[in-house]
Amino acid sequence: MQTWVKSLLVLLAMPATVIGSSLVSIPQTPPRYDLLLKGGHVIDPANHIDEVRDVAVFQGKIAAIEKDIPADQAGKVVDVSKLYVTPGLIDIHYHIGHGGAPLDWFTPEARAHAMPLGIPADLALQSGVTTIVDAGTAGADTFQQEKEEVIDRSRVRVLAFLNIVSNGMNGGLEQSLDEMDTKLCAATIKKYPDIIVGVKTAHYWTNEAWDAEHVPWAAVDRAIECASLANVPVMYDFWPRPDRTYEDLLLKKMRPGDIHTHVFAQQFPIILADGKINPALAEAHARGVIFDVGHGSGSFWFRNAVPAEKQGFIPDSLSTDLHTGNYNVVSMNDVMSKFLSMGVPLDDVIRRSTINPANEIRRPELGTLSVGKEADIAVLELKKGHFSYTDCGVARLDGNVKLEARMTIRAGRISYDPSGLSMVEWEKARPQYFTSPGLGNSLPSRADDFPRD
Ligand SMILES: [Zn+2]
Repeated sequence: MQTWVKSLLVLLAMPATVIGSSLVSIPQTPPRYDLLLKGGHVIDPANHIDEVRDVAVFQGKIAAIEKDIPADQAGKVVDVSKLYVTPGLIDIHYHIGHGGAPLDWFTPEARAHAMPLGIPADLALQSGVTTIVDAGTAGADTFQQEKEEVIDRSRVRVLAFLNIVSNGMNGGLEQSLDEMDTKLCAATIKKYPDIIVGVKTAHYWTNEAWDAEHVPWAAVDRAIECASLANVPVMYDFWPRPDRTYEDLLLKKMRPGDIHTHVFAQQFPIILADGKINPALAEAHARGVIFDVGHGSGSFWFRNAVPAEKQGFIPDSLSTDLHTGNYNVVSMNDVMSKFLSMGVPLDDVIRRSTINPANEIRRPELGTLSVGKEADIAVLELKKGHFSYTDCGVARLDGNVKLEARMTIRAGRISYDPSGLSMVEWEKARPQYFTSPGLGNSLPSRADDFPRD
């Protein structure tokens, strides 16, 4: 008998399931869904879901969230039991690296090595983050470069606050009022309404003597003027001084919807001498002021955060302020774990990392798992044990929980899966997996053609 006839007979004698899984894939009927996350505990605060549900994805969109979706309705099934499934996280304070921001002046070490300020955008995927907002790394003069070099090329969704300073965070020019062109700022925002979500002011004249050009509120006032022209919020990085008080920022300058980042930084009088939380925070919140974490390498201190949390004050949004000076110690999961360790419930931590920041940047279509929305999904593991966390004052907080991203799905594509949740064990891989390149066509181990980055 001819060899090929023997092979055909062997093939025909195999059970259909073996043929389907390892040799040829000819589904009887096309599956309704591309991807099914099965058995996970879904937390979607925007839709008041906090229970075990299956999540189905079709053509990059959320297609169904139901109690039991049959596995045979999906081309690809991933078992996520014992894990949490949440909307893709949103980090509204991030610094992406691009040629328009070549120098990091945050640390002498970084300056000495001429390190860039910003980091790769897609690093955020490692924390289950699917949307980042660059916090003013670029201004009107450098935004185009940031867009072409990074925003247009990233897998993670990148939005931006535009620095009121045209040259962005490019060194000393953040102190120059000539660089704070409100009309150019507003025109740039209006030119990119799909990307730019607000204005950023930062690092302005923190301890030098005032002079004719450098008056206390110049940067804040210019940022507000640009934001008013463009109808977007302002994000404030602020340093109070006797002529420029914290209370005046919160109660007089900031407009409803404006965002105070770095809220637990050392320079703010969050906790007063009697141990009570500064009443200006509640007063500001009541008039619509938004509070954001912006952890960074200098802006998160347990001495502010823990007493504030105990007295019921939790920032509206959690964010990292990642840049070259801190990306090796801070992450979105690290910031979230700190709040869990301080006693904030998991569903509240998820709310403040998904739908809250989405609303703050006026993108309520993000940060949810609503059917029909883009399938941005985080699969998270909540680990129990002994874990310790550090703050920017070189102090420690001990806790017993740690949140860790296990998988990140961006627009329906599996973009981060370091432990192979969605992959087959190597011994069960396709026959092609075992073929050496050069001798035949060695293909990846995947047992399907599901989109994957
Ligand atoms: Zn920052």
